[in-house]
Amino acid sequence: MGLWADTAGLLFPNTCAGCGQILLMGEKVICLACKHNLPYTNFHKDADNPVAKTFRGRVKVEAATSYLYFRQLGITQRLLHGLKYKGNKEVGVCLGNWMGKALQESEIYNSIDIIVPVPLYKKRENKRGYNQCHMLAQGLSEATNKKVSTTNLLRVQNNQSQTKLERWTRWTNVQEIFKVEQVHEIENKHILLIDDVVTTGATLEACASLLVPFCKVSIATLAIARDF
Ligand SMILES: [Zn+2]
Repeated sequence: MGLWADTAGLLFPNTCAGCGQILLMGEKVICLACKHNLPYTNFHKDADNPVAKTFRGRVKVEAATSYLYFRQLGITQRLLHGLKYKGNKEVGVCLGNWMGKALQESEIYNSIDIIVPVPLYKKRENKRGYNQCHMLAQGLSEATNKKVSTTNLLRVQNNQSQTKLERWTRWTNVQEIFKVEQVHEIENKHILLIDDVVTTGATLEACASLLVPFCKVSIATLAIARDF
């Protein structure tokens, strides 16, 4: 925790990442009022939730959920903006931690062995300085005592056809984008894939389809960006 807390303290001195108010004693990163008002989905309590349905017939996952609803100009968008574009890593760790605690209310997520954040392109990660999904995974790990692995699922670095790769749609192209390494570490385990936002589910489907030959896969994202 130390490193994240120190870094966040320097850049965001004692203000809430959700509303900008001064944090009170005992509050960290996000104030209690914002925590109370977050648009929780509670999807993890419903096996038949909209995220799980998104992957049905596309790739076999044990369970899938999103923690928060994402709406334009809503608090989830503000928090994600801080995490992705303002260098506020601590927001990711904090929300990952809360999400981890929530997931423990559900039997299926208690059988997770390893947490795997969806990898970014190295270029993008270097520009930001970190992978925001890794920050979420870090917080989840603190809440659940499950380890995070960033060495099993990797992005293929291929700058020549970047545009084409960004716009892939079919699973036949998956191996041009992601690859699985160190299979022995994940074999027969239950992997929890972590992403920041799910929209169409294409990226997560790609990652999951590469992993399922070796292990069980579940999915958790911080937010779901769709209207219901
Ligand atoms: Zn607040």
